[in-house]
Amino acid sequence: MSILVQNITKNYGDQKALNDVSFEINSGEIVGFLGPNGAGKSTMMKIITTYISQNSGNIIVNGFDTLQNPLNVRRSVGYLSEHNPLYTELYIKEYLQFNANIHHISKNRINEIIDLIGLKPEKNKKISQLSKGYKQRVGLAAALLHDPEVLILDEPTTGLDPNQLAEIRNLIKEIGKTKTVLLSTHIMQEVEAMCDRVIIINKGEIVADKNLKELLENQEQIIEVEFNLGVEEALLKKISNIKTVKNVFDNTWYLTFDTKNDMRSKIFDFAQENGLKTLQLQQKTTSLENLFQTLTN
Ligand code: ADP
Ligand code: MG
Repeated sequence: MSILVQNITKNYGDQKALNDVSFEINSGEIVGFLGPNGAGKSTMMKIITTYISQNSGNIIVNGFDTLQNPLNVRRSVGYLSEHNPLYTELYIKEYLQFNANIHHISKNRINEIIDLIGLKPEKNKKISQLSKGYKQRVGLAAALLHDPEVLILDEPTTGLDPNQLAEIRNLIKEIGKTKTVLLSTHIMQEVEAMCDRVIIINKGEIVADKNLKELLENQEQIIEVEFNLGVEEALLKKISNIKTVKNVFDNTWYLTFDTKNDMRSKIFDFAQENGLKTLQLQQKTTSLENLFQTLTN
């Protein structure tokens, strides 16, 4: 077990930010911490990393209690906080050196991490001269310098353009092969792209904790179809793998299927066999999106 969160409650004055939150993260997992703005993601991460403390409950990180053994927790954890505070007047190497000094880390490790994080092409630049994507890399490099077991990344991809996004995602996936990673985001696709598991938080409470593979396997497929003519509901129910049939309006139907196989061509065939034409055929949102919207609306 890498992170054990037990019944955490946190109040800011009379505002409750976390209410009796519990979850566990096993070694080697990449877990997405998903929730709308204000849900309590950053608060949870600040408590796990010992930057603030809870009102009640316990957290064990890498075997150490955050309240009783905060220094050992910090040694075990690399933390990229939400706004990635960097000293922008420093050169990359200076900044990493500054961080390395705090943890008594050797110069060799700085070069190693520059290679690992793909900072080499930019390594002689000042942080202020870097793109947002490279700034995130510097933040990641700093978080990884002391080779922690656990990485806590608070919205590591916010504000990146699509290319930078893909690069950082790949980097996190790569790092995740050897570390336990908890990363927060308010973007569902992010979780699908990177994570083994998703924990959804809303208004300070955990509303879902699911294995992504299971979630995708149990995914139901939704297809909206418009025919040129009316059709009997009973007839539609004969299409293979169909789960539910709903008439949305006129000749437009909402069909759900219990398979991941694309059913659009089956519906096309169905129409032909029954003397119908399909005027529109559209696959709808994935289950993770549905789940997120249902749970957090
Ligand atoms: P998220 O990271 O999911 O957007 P936060 O953990 O930042 O959510 O915030 C959770 C709730 O706690 C929000 O309602 C926020 O306004 C409140 N909050 C966060 N930090 C503070 C603070 N320092 N003082 C008072 N309220 C805060
Ligand atoms: Mg936040």
